[in-house]
Amino acid sequence: MEKAAKNYKALSVGDIKALGRVTLNSALGLTGAEVSINELPAGVGVPFVHAHKRNEEVYVILEGKGRFFVDGDIFSVEPGSAIRVDPAGERSLKADGESPLRYLCIQTEANSLAQFTENDGIMTESKPAW
Ligand code: ZN
Repeated sequence: MEKAAKNYKALSVGDIKALGRVTLNSALGLTGAEVSINELPAGVGVPFVHAHKRNEEVYVILEGKGRFFVDGDIFSVEPGSAIRVDPAGERSLKADGESPLRYLCIQTEANSLAQFTENDGIMTESKPAW
């Protein structure tokens, strides 16, 4: 009898402080989102402005400071900043001159999520061995 596939995939992407950009879609087999771990060196900006056809994006700043551009607006970002951008939003960002800017970008299809934690989570009988 064939063993059932596991309900998870866990891996290390290595030293996230040494990464430029790593996408987790294919590495983890994501089916509903793209998640990337990104680093812009000090003083460096994304060299283009882009929008999306269907996907909204959430940027979460983890480390460093920088500036975020959306549709002509420019504002400062720092650790803890979270920015949601509509698909049509024309966006870019840049690290300040002092330190690298590290951030997560989570990309999902706009208006695709039908339920959230409270409505989608179900309690199970399992108990961890720890
Ligand atoms: Zn994007």
